[in-house]
Amino acid sequence: MGLLIVGGGPAGLACARGYRDAGGSAPVLMISADQYPPYNRPPLTKDYLRGESAADTLPLVDADWYAQHDVGLVLDTRVTRIDRDARQVITAAGDAVAYDQLVLATGSRPAVLPVEGADHPGVIYVRDRASGERLRGLRGADIRAVVIGSGFIGCEAAASLARTGTMVTMLTPEAVPHERRLGPDAGHRVAEWLRSDGVDLQTDAKVSRIERDGDGWQVTLADGRALGCDAVVSASGATPDASLAREAGLSIRDDAIAVDASMRSSDQQIWAAGDVASAVNRAAGRPLRVEHWGEAETMGEIAGRAIAGQGAAWDQPPGFWSEIGDRTLKYSAWGDGFDHAELLENAAGWAVVYAGDGLIVGVLCHEWDDVYEHAQQLISDRRPFAEAKVALGAATGQVAPPKPS
Ligand SMILES: Cc1cc2nc3c(=O)[nH]c(=O)nc-3n(C[C@H](O)[C@H](O)[C@H](O)COP(=O)(O)OP(=O)(O)OC[C@H]3O[C@@H](n4cnc5c(N)ncnc54)[C@H](O)[C@@H]3O)c2cc1C
Repeated sequence: MGLLIVGGGPAGLACARGYRDAGGSAPVLMISADQYPPYNRPPLTKDYLRGESAADTLPLVDADWYAQHDVGLVLDTRVTRIDRDARQVITAAGDAVAYDQLVLATGSRPAVLPVEGADHPGVIYVRDRASGERLRGLRGADIRAVVIGSGFIGCEAAASLARTGTMVTMLTPEAVPHERRLGPDAGHRVAEWLRSDGVDLQTDAKVSRIERDGDGWQVTLADGRALGCDAVVSASGATPDASLAREAGLSIRDDAIAVDASMRSSDQQIWAAGDVASAVNRAAGRPLRVEHWGEAETMGEIAGRAIAGQGAAWDQPPGFWSEIGDRTLKYSAWGDGFDHAELLENAAGWAVVYAGDGLIVGVLCHEWDDVYEHAQQLISDRRPFAEAKVALGAATGQVAPPKPS
C-alpha cells in the first residue's frame, strides 16, 4: 500500500521525485511496461539516432537513485486493469498490487495509419527506446527509408537519418510539413530545411497501402505511385493511452483522462499526469492536452506534491523545443488551435505568432529567444493579439511602439 505509479516515463518519475521532495513518506512503487528504467525520449530522433550520443546518456537518473529515494521500480510489467473498489491494479501476469493513491502516467501510443499493411510488425512506429534502436539501425548510405508523417517526430527522424547518409523519402498528405499545426509560413521553412538536409520531401502524398516486397517494402500512394524501400518509418501522431482509466469508468475528456489543475481525476484516489492527461491549466482557464516532455515532468511533479499534501497547480503556458538537423525550434502555445498567424523576421531568425479569439495563443521561434520569452509572458497573461503584436514589435524594433498620448 502507498503511492503506486503506473508508467515509467518523465511524468511517472517526476511524480515519485515530487512526492519525496514534498516530504511524502509512504512506500512508492513504479510499474512500467518498458524494459528500460526511465530514459530520455527526445534524443531517439536527434543526437542518439545520429550516433552522436551513447546509450549510457539516456537514463533519466542514475541506477542508484531509486534505492536512495526508496522508490521501487518494476519493469517489463503491464497493468491491464484497475479494480477501484478493492483499490488495486491487476498486471498482465494476473498479480494484484494494492494502492492508497494511484497515478496513471501511461503516456501515448503511436497512431497506427489506417491503411492496409500499416500494422505489420516490421513497420517502425517511433515511440519507445526499442523503436529508437531500430531507427538507429537505419543509418547508412545504402539504406532507403520512407518516413510517413511530417510532425515533429517525423521531421526530426527524417533530417537525422538523411544527415547520416540514409536515403530518406518523407511522405506527407499536407502541402508543407506541420501545415495544420503551425501554419504555412513555418511549414515552408521546415520544408526548406528538410530538403537542404537531403530529404526527398513529397507533399500532398497520401499513403494507401504498405506491403512487403522481397527483403524490402513497397509503399503505394493514393495516386497510384509506388515507392520501393528498405524500411518504413511511421510518425503519424500519437493518442493518449487512457484505456485503463476508460475501462475503470473514470471521466475522459478529449480522449485523455480528465483531471483538475492538481492532476486529480474524477476518483479522489486516482491521479493522471503527462501525455495521458487532459488537465486544467489555470493560466489558460481551460483543460489542455499536450504531448511535451517538459509538461509531462511538470504535471508529474504537481501530482506527486499534491499527493504529499503540498498544494500545486498547473499554471504555465506549455512549451517544447524541437531539433530538425542542427536547427532548433522553440514553441509555446496552449496548443488547442489558432485562427490567425503572423510571421516576424530578422537577420538571424524568425518567429510566427498565433492568435485565437482575438488573444495571443502561441509562438514558434527559430533563433530568436527574446521574442520567445516575451511572447510566453504575453500568452500567459492572455493579452489581446493586437496589443501583443505592438509589444513584440517594440521589443524587436520591427514595429514602432505606440506614441504616448
Ligand atoms: C522519439 C520522441 C521524441 C520526442 N521529442 C520530444 C522533444 O524534443 N520535446 C518534447 O517536448 N517532447 C518530445 N517528445 C514527446 C515526449 O517524449 C512525451 O511528451 C513524453 O514522453 C510524455 O511523457 P509521459 O511520462 O506522459 O509518457 P511516456 O514517456 O510515453 O511514458 C509512458 C510510460 O508508461 C508505460 N506504460 C504505458 N502503459 C502502461 C501499462 N498499462 N502498464 C505499465 N506501464 C505502462 C510505458 O511503458 C512508459 O514507460 C518526443 C517523443 C518521442 C517518442
